[in-house]
Amino acid sequence: MKQKHWYDYLWIWAIVYFTLGFFNILFAWLGMFDFLLPLIFAIFFRNKWFCINMCGRSQLFNLLGATMRLSRNKSTPKFLSSRWFRYVFLVFFLAMFTSIIVQTYFVASGVHSLNQAVTLLWTFQVPWKWAYAPDLLPESYVWVAQFAYGFYSLMLTSAIIGLVMMYFFKPRSWCAFCPMGTMTQGICQIQNLNKQD
Ligand code: SF4
Repeated sequence: MKQKHWYDYLWIWAIVYFTLGFFNILFAWLGMFDFLLPLIFAIFFRNKWFCINMCGRSQLFNLLGATMRLSRNKSTPKFLSSRWFRYVFLVFFLAMFTSIIVQTYFVASGVHSLNQAVTLLWTFQVPWKWAYAPDLLPESYVWVAQFAYGFYSLMLTSAIIGLVMMYFFKPRSWCAFCPMGTMTQGICQIQNLNKQD
């Protein structure tokens, strides 16, 4: 039997993360680890070690879909892993991330007030007021909460899409077009090309 490591249990972290963000939106910032670590591994170590070993989200999909048999386990549609679809989705994802930064900037500069809502599937505004008390941060730092709301929206949206994909197709179907996976794969390919030159 394969020896278990601490990082085999990071699916717990995926659950804890969304639970913490439900009660206090500022915990959404912890998701930056999931955002930055795959890029750090790809840039400095030229590999996808994070995806293979440390991604709590894909571990959770595997646990629910494969171990708990909640997946219908149909083949993932081929177009989802095609190069054009992955890159179009990546551009869309980065555009959404940029809009979070812009919104954060507007709040920081006083143009907009804090929007205490989580936006699901980039469309539906779900009130999330209980997760942030106005006196939690000084007025000049309220942008920290705005970024947290935006980032949590992005994380929750991708988790929902991943869960739907898990149910209908193979448990880790989200990985076929996950923006982090596309970015790290692209970085590793460029690094390896440079190595050959
Ligand atoms: S492709 Fe995305 S969801 Fe899949 S293991 Fe990598 S970071 Fe996690």
